[in-house]
Amino acid sequence: MARILGIIGGGQLGMMLTEAAKNMPEHISDVIVLDPTENCSAAQVGAKQILGDFKDREAILELASKVDVLTYEIESGDSEVLKIAAAKTAINPSPETLRIIQDKYLQKSFLRENGIPVTDFVVIESLEDLKKKINGFGYPALLKARRDAYDGRGNYKIRSDGDLEAAYNAFSGKTQMLERFVNFKMEVSVIAARNTAGQIATYPVVENIHENNILKMTIAPARVSGNVAKQAEEIARKTMQVLHGAGVFGIEMFVTQDDAILINEIAPRVHNSGHHTLQSSMTSQFEQHLRAILGLDLGDTKLLHPTIMYNILGPDGFSGRYKAPVIDADGAHLKMYGKSESKPQRKLGHFNLVDYNGTKGIEGLIKSIESIKEKAGIIPL
Ligand code: AMP
Repeated sequence: MARILGIIGGGQLGMMLTEAAKNMPEHISDVIVLDPTENCSAAQVGAKQILGDFKDREAILELASKVDVLTYEIESGDSEVLKIAAAKTAINPSPETLRIIQDKYLQKSFLRENGIPVTDFVVIESLEDLKKKINGFGYPALLKARRDAYDGRGNYKIRSDGDLEAAYNAFSGKTQMLERFVNFKMEVSVIAARNTAGQIATYPVVENIHENNILKMTIAPARVSGNVAKQAEEIARKTMQVLHGAGVFGIEMFVTQDDAILINEIAPRVHNSGHHTLQSSMTSQFEQHLRAILGLDLGDTKLLHPTIMYNILGPDGFSGRYKAPVIDADGAHLKMYGKSESKPQRKLGHFNLVDYNGTKGIEGLIKSIESIKEKAGIIPL
């Protein structure tokens, strides 16, 4: 029997999940999202919307009472409220998995305890504690806010003794941790899925290029050796085995100078570095997430065509209404998220450039991106 799906968050991830759900009418009859923005991205593609904050207890419980299965597109949800909501409906990934992941210190401790490679880290309790523990790390080192910190906003790179106080004060009132700086060769990620029956599938590893700590471009597949690719996929599989949550997870990793893999961060949700799967792969990450939380067999994760995903971000120095770009290059698929206003660095859309007949290869795709990206900006109105 088809079920009603609830999603906490109705931004671009909720939007693309809703679109995937609409293609599975035999399994999902309706989608309801909780989002504070009127006519949010997901609502524009047919989701019903409860207007409310992601942390609004009453709104979450109302959503839980209306759906058969509940998931989320944000990791800042209140896991305690979700535990209460779990009495009303199935929630995936589970509130316990979310609780571990949403605190970077708990997340890394969990990974380390399970023998999964991460960089060295310690908890920081006070400025004195930081001054003491920095000795074991040297410079540079990264001070991180443990919770509610995304896109690098919760990171402070400490370069010398002179930075310690400013770094600590930058996150005052927040729980903190200190990490050894990784002089990585490349940032990669693996999109992995586990269904409610425990079946696991991983997508081929992809390469991520960040600008100002925000993902700019994903190259699928990553330009790494077969050995590195195998390592990354095995680490992702092992992570899914120990985490136990059902759903799609974005697992961000570093490739070190000597080709070892370290996990940087896990997102308990569909992930920006998996958007290429909409055109490149047998099964999109959005369909895969729904298959996973509904307990269906997972789809084939084969990468059919080399593809580059390019994010369309709000330009600096402009806030307001805008016109979407026109991208008409061969093999390009533009997806705008229907957000009415641009803000600096806001994710407004993306396009996938797909090498359908295998003639370009990754280097050819990168060349094409260079010429398209001039036209890939939004036009302020
Ligand atoms: P995060 O918000 O923790 O995922 O970090 C955002 C970005 O900061 C990552 O994509 C990396 O580029 C960088 N970063 C995070 N942790 C480290 C680390 N331990 N060493 C070097 N760079 C890091």
